[in-house]
Amino acid sequence: MSLTTTKEEMTQVSHFSTLVIVERGTTKRIKKEVERLLNLYGDHNTDDPKWDWWQFGGRFSGSLDGTDFRANPKNYNTCTICKGTGTRTDFAMVTPPPKDLDQWYERIRQDLPKWYIYQVIGKGCNACYGTGHTLNWISPVEYRGDILPVSAIRKDFIPFAIISPDGKWYQRGEMGMWAIVTNESPEWESTAKTIIETYREGFVGVLVDCHT
Ligand SMILES: [Zn+2]
Repeated sequence: MSLTTTKEEMTQVSHFSTLVIVERGTTKRIKKEVERLLNLYGDHNTDDPKWDWWQFGGRFSGSLDGTDFRANPKNYNTCTICKGTGTRTDFAMVTPPPKDLDQWYERIRQDLPKWYIYQVIGKGCNACYGTGHTLNWISPVEYRGDILPVSAIRKDFIPFAIISPDGKWYQRGEMGMWAIVTNESPEWESTAKTIIETYREGFVGVLVDCHT
C-alpha cells in the first residue's frame, strides 16, 4: 500500500492538503500556532477566505511520512447499514431494489478497492463492499506522524497549500467546487519544495485537511 501524491490524491471533493510550518515546541503550542495561522485565512478574518472547515490530518493523514491511514483498523467503523454482517437485507435506500440480487452482490464484491484491509464476509452490502467495515474518511484517528520536524517529511510530499511561519499562504492553484483546480502554477512543485527546504532546521510541519 502506498500514498501517491498525484493531484487526485491531494485533492478530493474540494478537500485539500495544507502543510502549516511553525517553530518547534510542545505539541500544545504547535497546535495553537497552527490554529492562529489558519484563522488568518478563515472567512471571519478575511474577504478572501481559503477554507470553511479544517482539521488536523483528516483524509490526508499519514502523507508526511507515507503512512496510509486506510491501513489502520482503528480508522474503520462497523458498518451501520448491514450491522457488520456484510450482507444487505434492507433495501430501503436502494430504489428500485436490484432485480438480480446475485449479480448486484457480485458487482459490489468486485468493486472492493485494492486498499481495503477487510475481506468480503457477506453478500455485498453496498456501504462496506460486504466487509462489514466502513472507512472513516472524515476523521481518522489522530496520528502522531501528522506533526513532524520539517527535515523528517518525505522528500516527495507536495501539499496543495503551505502556510509559512510568517503567516504567508502559498498554493498550487485556485480550488473550486468538486476539487476543480484553476490557475495552476506550473512551478508549484519546485516552489513548494523550496519553501519546505527553507524551514528544514528548527521547524515542524503540520498536516491539515482543509475544505473549501
Ligand atoms: Zn455493510
